[in-house]
Amino acid sequence: MTQPDLPADGVYFRACNLCEAICGLRLTVEGGRVTDVRGDPDDPLSRGHICPKGTALPDLHADPDRLKRPLRRVGDAWEELEWDAALDFVAARLSAVRDAHGPDAVASFQGNPSVHNSGTLLSASAFLKAIGSRNRFTATSTDQLPHHFAGAEMFGHPLLLPIPDIDRTDFFLMLGANPAASNGSILTAPGMRGRLKAIRERGGRVVLFDPRRTESAALATEYHPIRPGTDALLLLGLLNVIFVEFLERLGHLETFTDGLEALRQAAAPYTPVAVAPATGVPADVIRGLARDFARAERAVAYGRIGLSVQSFGGLSQWLVNALNIVTGHLDTPGSAMFPRPAFDLLLRARAGEVHHGRYTSRVRGLPEFDHELPNVTMAEEMLTPGDGQVRALVTIAGNPVLSTPDGARLDRALAGLDFMVSIDPYLNETTRHAHVILPPATGLEVGHYDVIFHHFAVRNTARYSDPVFPIGPDQRYDHQIFAGLTERLTGKAGTSPEARLNLGLKHGPYATSVEDLRAHPHGIDYGPLTPCLPERLLTAGGRVHLAPAAMLADLPRLHATLRAPVPPLVLIGRRDLRSNNSWMHNTPRLMRGPARCTVQLHPHDARGLQDGQDVTVQSRVGAVTVPLEITEDVMPGVACLPHGFGHGRVGVRLAVAQAHAGASVNDLTDPERVDALTGNAALNGVPVTVRAAVTEAMSAD
Ligand code: SF4
Repeated sequence: MTQPDLPADGVYFRACNLCEAICGLRLTVEGGRVTDVRGDPDDPLSRGHICPKGTALPDLHADPDRLKRPLRRVGDAWEELEWDAALDFVAARLSAVRDAHGPDAVASFQGNPSVHNSGTLLSASAFLKAIGSRNRFTATSTDQLPHHFAGAEMFGHPLLLPIPDIDRTDFFLMLGANPAASNGSILTAPGMRGRLKAIRERGGRVVLFDPRRTESAALATEYHPIRPGTDALLLLGLLNVIFVEFLERLGHLETFTDGLEALRQAAAPYTPVAVAPATGVPADVIRGLARDFARAERAVAYGRIGLSVQSFGGLSQWLVNALNIVTGHLDTPGSAMFPRPAFDLLLRARAGEVHHGRYTSRVRGLPEFDHELPNVTMAEEMLTPGDGQVRALVTIAGNPVLSTPDGARLDRALAGLDFMVSIDPYLNETTRHAHVILPPATGLEVGHYDVIFHHFAVRNTARYSDPVFPIGPDQRYDHQIFAGLTERLTGKAGTSPEARLNLGLKHGPYATSVEDLRAHPHGIDYGPLTPCLPERLLTAGGRVHLAPAAMLADLPRLHATLRAPVPPLVLIGRRDLRSNNSWMHNTPRLMRGPARCTVQLHPHDARGLQDGQDVTVQSRVGAVTVPLEITEDVMPGVACLPHGFGHGRVGVRLAVAQAHAGASVNDLTDPERVDALTGNAALNGVPVTVRAAVTEAMSAD
C-alpha cells in the first residue's frame, strides 16, 4: 500500500469526536507520530478536560487492525479491491436486490459513531434516500429514543431536548445516569466529575437514583437505590406530592403551557405510599425530595440511560420534563434549558410536524419514529418470509450483533442475507458477515464539526477541527464513499459536507462559517444557555404540551406494574469510562488491568457462589458465562453486566479485543421486551438466573 504523507512536526488542536463531550485536544506531532495528547485548556466548553479514551486516539490511528482498503469476502477469506471496483460492485448488488424485491428489501443500520462524524452525518442521508427503504434502523432505538419521543410530543421536535444547566444549578436530581463513566450523555458537558463537585462546593445538592451505587454516586450528596424500571412511578410520586401540597409554580411557562390539570389527575393515584413498595424508595424520601426540589431556586431533574432502556422509557422521560416544568425549572438559568448551536438543525424544521407512527414495521407492526423503525425488529424482518422481507443490509459504523437485543439471533439472520455491505473501519462481530467492507478514513484523519452534540451542550460554543493526518492515496473519506455510491445509484453525487456545513453555519444564529471557525482553533464561545421559550417551540400552537395524549394513554400499562409480581433477579447494563460501547476494546492502553466483563451480584443473591468464580447467566433468549463479582454496590435482586463485550466470535479481526473477549450482554437481552410507547429496546429489567458455570471437568463427570 502507498503510504500517506506525514504531518509536519508541531502542535495541533482539534476536538475529540469519540463521545458526546467533544473535548478540545492539544496534540504534539514529532517525526510523523503523535507524542503527546492532552486537554486543550483554552477550549471554552471542555476547559482542558480529557479522558483515557481521548489519550488513546493516536492508538486508533496506528491500529494495525484498522482497515484502509475495501475488502470482499471470498468463501472464508477476504481479498482487497480497488475503490472504483468496490463501489461499482456494491451499487450493482444493492440495485439488483432493490429491483427484484423493492426498496424495503434493502435495510440499513447506522451505529453510534455515525452521529459523531460530520462527514457521515452530512452525506449518508442522500445515499439512504437513494435506496428509498423504510427499513432504516439506528442506535437511537437502542438507548435514547424516549428522549426524542418526549421532545417531539412536548416541545414539537425530536431534537428539542431540555439540557441541565449544571454549571449554574444548585440542585441536580439524576435518575439512571452515570456521567462519571459516560462523560455526560444527552448532556454535552466535558469534565462532569468537576462540574458535579462544583455543585457541592457551592453548597448545592446532587441526588442520584440508580439500582447500582455507581461511580457517580461517589460524587453525589445523596444516593438512593431504586428497583429497575420503576423510575416513572417514582416521578409520579414526586409529582403527586407537589400537586397535593400545592407546590406547583410554572413561572413564565404558565402562559404557554397546556395540560396542567390532566397531569394533576394523572399523578393523583401515585401517592408516595402507593409507589414505595414497587420502587423500593421509602415514602418519606419521596415526600422530602419533592418538597425540596419544588422549593429550590435553581434545580433540574435529568434522567438518562437507565430511564431510556426499559419498558417505560417514554413515560419516564416525559415525567422528567414534566417535573421540571411544574416546578418552574425549565428555561431559566440553573434549570433545564435549550441550547442554540451555531449549526441549528431546528431552523429548517416545520412547526406541528408529525414525527412518529406514519408507518409500522412489517412483522410486528411497531411504529416508526423520525423515519426509523425500532431495531428490536431487525432480525425478524430478515428471517420472516414474505413481501418486503429484508434481503440486503447496509451497516454504517455500527455493530448491532453486540449492541442490539438477542445479538446471537441477529448473527444468524445476517449470515442468511443475499447481500451485505459495511461502511466501517473494522472487521468486527457484525461486519464479518458483509460481502464487502468499505473502510472510511477515521479519527485524526478527518475534519470535524459536531453537528449533533452542540444541540445538547451546557454552553453555546462552536469548533471546527481540520485533520491532523493526511490520508493515503488508497484511502477514502466517508463522504467520498457515500457520494460514490449515491452517484452510481442516482447519477448525482450531491452536495459536499463542507458546503452543507458552511450553509448551516451561515444561516445559524451566529452567522459564522468554516473559515471563521478555522481562525479560532480553540473554538468560539457564544456564552451560557439563554431562555428561548416560547419562540423555540415547534408544536402546532407554539405551546408546551405537559400531558400529551400518547403519554396519558400509556399510563394504564404502568399502573398494572404496581401490583405485578417481581422477578427474583433482573439484569441491568453497566458502562465503563474506558469503553466506547462496542468499540475501543482494540486499544491496549484501554484494556489494561483486571477483566471488566464481570457480572455483579449483591451478596444476598450470590449465596452459595464465590467471588471470582465463573457463573452462567441465563435469560429467555440465551446464556453467557462470565466471572462473578460480589458487591454491595448493586441492590438485591439485580445482576449487572457491562455492554459492548463478546469479541470471541469467529472471523473477527480485532486482536486486542479478542484477547479480552468477555461476553455480550445482548446475548441475554430480549427483542420481545420493548417500550411499547416508543419502540425503544427494554435492555434493562430482563429476568435472569445465575448459577455456577459447569466446567469441562465437571461436565465430563
Ligand atoms: S470525554 Fe469523550 S470527547 Fe472527551 S476525551 Fe474522552 S472520549 Fe474524547
